Amino acid sequence: MAEALEQELLVHPVPETTVDANRRWIDIASAGAYYGIQASCLLAFFTGVTTADVVLCASLFWVRMFAITGGYHRYFAHKTYRTSRAFQFVLAFLGCCSIQKGPLWWAAGHRRHHRYSDQPGDMHSPREGFWYAHQGWIFDGRWDATEIDRIRDFAAYPELRWLNRWHALPPVLMGLLCYAVAGWSGVVWGVAISTTLLWHSTYTINSLAHRWGSVRFDTGDDSRNNWVLALLTMGEGWHNNHHKYMASTRQGFFWWEIDLTYYILRGLAAVGIVWDLREPPAKLLERG
Ligand SMILES: [Zn+2]
Ligand SMILES: [Zn+2]
Repeated sequence: MAEALEQELLVHPVPETTVDANRRWIDIASAGAYYGIQASCLLAFFTGVTTADVVLCASLFWVRMFAITGGYHRYFAHKTYRTSRAFQFVLAFLGCCSIQKGPLWWAAGHRRHHRYSDQPGDMHSPREGFWYAHQGWIFDGRWDATEIDRIRDFAAYPELRWLNRWHALPPVLMGLLCYAVAGWSGVVWGVAISTTLLWHSTYTINSLAHRWGSVRFDTGDDSRNNWVLALLTMGEGWHNNHHKYMASTRQGFFWWEIDLTYYILRGLAAVGIVWDLREPPAKLLERG
């Protein structure tokens, strides 16, 4: 890839971050949280379910899905549009609530994914095994640290560095909110069940969207377009389009490629909360 295009797509080379091999306890703590939250779904058999629980579960699923797709992914990782420093913080805070670590860690790791997609150095390629790509990589010590060199642009904001460090705080506040709204069953549905569904939906983009679907563009990797995954993840299923041109805000390149994240961002642009949404190059659309 030409150097100028690498810069534009934010996949230019950076020095490798050295991995601290003595961070085993972090793996144990994160595995405990990961499986503990999923096991807690079973508590629903004891707490039961109310209408408020279902509303909490569904609304937290979709709000946090948007925070990942529209915030962590299309804003922090790819800078496909611009916004204010205040709304940037809101996106980062809501992204933390999805319990996928902090914005700088997530976005830097994702830039790595695009730099090396499906080659050695990609942290979640299905070529290393389907389950490894889906969730195993999360516990791989090689990817623990935030690669600050890949995310210097956003690491310049102290409030983002702070959130990146204290990424567990927003989910705790979210749990307290669920408890205040609907008691313990609210916590089970709003945190455990909603987050479990959110995680596995998000992770299909790392696993299934590099295996299952159609190929429009030759991208040199295994990325696919898949409408089922696009509906489930608010537009991220147009993953082959996305790998072809990551700087575009929309990932559905044509009107029939439903991309809910993009529609919401267009709505936010209409009221001036975000601006400068970027489009795919016209010649790509002609080829498509
Ligand atoms: Zn990908
Ligand atoms: Zn991406």
